[in-house]
Amino acid sequence: MKKHNFYAGPSVLPEYTKQKVAEAALDFAGTGLSVMEVSHRGKEFVAVMDEAIALVKELLNVPEGYSVLFLQGGASLQFLMVPYNLMKAKAAYLNTGAWASKAMKEAQFFGEVVEVASSKDKNFNYIPKSYEVPADVDYLHITTNNTIFGTELKSDPDVPVRLVADMSSDIFSRPIDVAKYDLIYAGAQKNLGPSGATLVIVKDDVLGKTGRQIPTMLDYQIHIKNESMFNTPSTVAVFACLQTLKWLKENGGVAEMEKVNIAKADLLYGELDRNKLFVPTVPAAEDRSRMNVTFVMAPGYEALEKEFLDLATAKGMVGLKGHRSVGGFRASTYNALPLESVQALVDAMKEFEAIH
Ligand SMILES: *Cc1c(COP(=O)(O)O)cnc(C)c1O
Repeated sequence: MKKHNFYAGPSVLPEYTKQKVAEAALDFAGTGLSVMEVSHRGKEFVAVMDEAIALVKELLNVPEGYSVLFLQGGASLQFLMVPYNLMKAKAAYLNTGAWASKAMKEAQFFGEVVEVASSKDKNFNYIPKSYEVPADVDYLHITTNNTIFGTELKSDPDVPVRLVADMSSDIFSRPIDVAKYDLIYAGAQKNLGPSGATLVIVKDDVLGKTGRQIPTMLDYQIHIKNESMFNTPSTVAVFACLQTLKWLKENGGVAEMEKVNIAKADLLYGELDRNKLFVPTVPAAEDRSRMNVTFVMAPGYEALEKEFLDLATAKGMVGLKGHRSVGGFRASTYNALPLESVQALVDAMKEFEAIH
């Protein structure tokens, strides 16, 4: 049976990516060797890294003066690499959920962390709008998409200080103005590839200014100088990311992705607002994520939760169970999830409503 993959991460990938990785698992670039068994210093793999970096720059329109890196350690390592490299004494964080909170926890090892606003009072079901950023902070850190709580900041904010963004779960889902950011990071396993690679886009001139000694592997400048090859990169993951980047380019890039993502989100939220059995957990339409759609059974129908999950599972839908801190359901609708999968979910909701 065809599966509809709603997992939050690792998550659905384009057929193109899976096909190319499968081929290269046996014969990579005509070498007669698997992509798993070639040197990262060989010309074939160096070409992969170079092309992946060039495509990130092209697809996101990265301006001059920025470097693109493929690192390891996930977004979680960026929680500490960012303050290690950028924070002199004080940094501001917008607390929009579990990942933002984890980023704040790591930053506290390096200086004072100012929480400019938090949506914790409502279990992170909205994005705080009015807050002041102290002028003397080294940067403001935001999480553009809150994978667990289903909220998303869908525009690039104007802030008077340096801006750092965790875009792990919505990078490449819409055009962004990279010039507004000083550093962007994203674990690959939500919208780009398998786990094991972490994308970093950093403005070169923000680095080297803290006066702090940085251990070699945690120093962005070392990775920039060595073109993401200071040590052995996650070769297979980077190869897979490259395939998704090619697929993105072939399919109209991030502008086209945004159109399809809006269509998918409109379809699903439209049904959630209409169907009497379900309610979305994020009330304000402007805060609703296009990547992770969180919803619960409507009041009075809570007991039907398992029955709906079973119905969806029987129709080939996987990964719909909500995160334990929100409950209910979460449908992750990343770039590679086809509209048909969202339609299948909407049809199942309509069918369930008719039964009850
Ligand atoms: C998944 C996720 C993370 C954690 O990523 P790891 O690669 O597991 O460290 C951090 N931030 C956001 C927004 C995420 O979705």
